[in-house]
Amino acid sequence: MAPRDDLAGTLRSLDGASYGRYKSLSGAWSVAEQIGLEVLRVQADPFAPPSRVRLTVSDAGIPADLCATADRRRALASFLLRVLRRALRDSPVHVDAGGPEVLDRSAGTVRADGVVVVEVGVPFPGPKRRILGREAAGLLGETLPVAARGALCWDAVDQRAARAFVETVEDAVALRAALAGRGLVAFVADGAVLPRRSGVDDRPLERATPFAGPPEREVVLEAPNAGPVRGLGVPEGVTLIVGGGYHGKSTLLRALEAGVYDHVPGDGREQVVTRPDAVKLRAEDGRAVIHDDVSAFVAHLPSGEPTDDFSTTNASGSTSQAASTVEAVEAGADVLLIDEDTSATNMMIRDARMQQLIASEPLVPFVERVRPLHAEHGVSTVLVMGGSGDYLGVADTVIMMDAYRASDVTARAHEIAASGESRAVEHTGFPAVTPRVVDPASLDPTAKGKRRVTARGRDRLSFGDDDIDLGAVEQITDRSQVAGIGRALALLGDGVLDGTITLAEGLDLLDAELDRRGLEALLDGRSEDIARPRRHEVAAALNRLRSLRLRM
Ligand code: ADP
Ligand code: MG
Repeated sequence: MAPRDDLAGTLRSLDGASYGRYKSLSGAWSVAEQIGLEVLRVQADPFAPPSRVRLTVSDAGIPADLCATADRRRALASFLLRVLRRALRDSPVHVDAGGPEVLDRSAGTVRADGVVVVEVGVPFPGPKRRILGREAAGLLGETLPVAARGALCWDAVDQRAARAFVETVEDAVALRAALAGRGLVAFVADGAVLPRRSGVDDRPLERATPFAGPPEREVVLEAPNAGPVRGLGVPEGVTLIVGGGYHGKSTLLRALEAGVYDHVPGDGREQVVTRPDAVKLRAEDGRAVIHDDVSAFVAHLPSGEPTDDFSTTNASGSTSQAASTVEAVEAGADVLLIDEDTSATNMMIRDARMQQLIASEPLVPFVERVRPLHAEHGVSTVLVMGGSGDYLGVADTVIMMDAYRASDVTARAHEIAASGESRAVEHTGFPAVTPRVVDPASLDPTAKGKRRVTARGRDRLSFGDDDIDLGAVEQITDRSQVAGIGRALALLGDGVLDGTITLAEGLDLLDAELDRRGLEALLDGRSEDIARPRRHEVAAALNRLRSLRLRM
């Protein structure tokens, strides 16, 4: 069907009609030269989530080299979305441009042929359930096309900023890709700004002390655009971040957590990169655990329940962290990131005195497993620990933070560990994590006969009859990623996890499908703001789905 024209005139003629008549706008319109507008979904009433409108700029004039790779297209799309969001900031239009991370988002794509497609949320005006025709005409016929023209066409944008944005992202991708070959789990460039303004403000802290890596751990990585980049290389194995309270330990770890994503220029963490399969772990008492093999960390339970097949609706701090640890390994994590601030103490340590006092401790502290986890399973750990010296002897690398400055204190730490009294070793090795096979019928997104997969913000996902609490899954970026996780769970339940393959194999298939088809693999023709999730956050949501069942 050819696009209709005169959207504005049509809207003006609908002025005063009942709100439901907005539905007649569905479909394609031509609103300006170069720009196609498609009304994808019309809200049922003025209080419903905004209507969804797609803008297609077929002749945006994007230079071919900026469309040449998927990473460049993702970066450019992110840049253009941010320009569009700024252009529309005084309007009610919602542009899902995201936070400081540069993710694949359904809100905006640059295709390989240079076509720019964005999808925005437009609240169709009609406070009294009557169409406000003139206002709607201004919004759809004027504001949107003008903003699109000024924000999505190459001749209108700040081309230097656009190129710098793309190059920054491309450099981060290259730095991250270089880690494994250099035996590193993370890299923090000298000069990086790690602290954020506050716990609720993700912008860089002003007047922060820039990061400077210790000379003993200095590495130089090659970025395709910035050239050689100098900084701290965090090696594989067991790395300890020590230091006094309030000296920047957690801030460094949080930067490593964020380093699985690329960041916008000006963020301060553009050249802080972590291996893509690095997973933050923490205690999360109250979470559900469904048939996890936690025997590596729990030898026996007072109830007599088997610990290689442990389920609970209400985990303790230590069992929740044990469960999250083996789940991360199951899902393919190769780096674990742990902070004493958010860990269960009895899961982390058991010192010499407690060993004397409590002979029958069922918990195997992480300090006993952290080395075999690397030696036998190739899983490295970066751990913030200022409160206990028990880890000094098991760490390959010890970084000290002192007034936000990093130094290498490995030799001194090993000296201290070798002298004086130390704890007795009670356990060795790290048992293989039993792979689980999910019953796909339990990944059912329907509730009361209707499909219900809804992100309720950054911390909660409604999935079928369940509400999944994601508050403790710290590497989730935003609500759109939660929406992507919901779609991924539905896809896993709808054919990927067939009741015979393991969860890890299912996650492999999910990743392959996402690499092949992009976000369309999750959207399947639907239109919604989603951002691409990692397999680890998808697995984390699945593991917290209280109605999950397994094939035994
Ligand atoms: P720790 O975990 O060692 O107790 P944090 O990482 O929580 O310390 O940092 C303590 C405070 O110092 C935080 O408010 C943080 O924002 C701030 N901070 C961290 N790194 C820097 C830095 N490089 N420059 C300035 N302030 C910083
Ligand atoms: Mg801390």
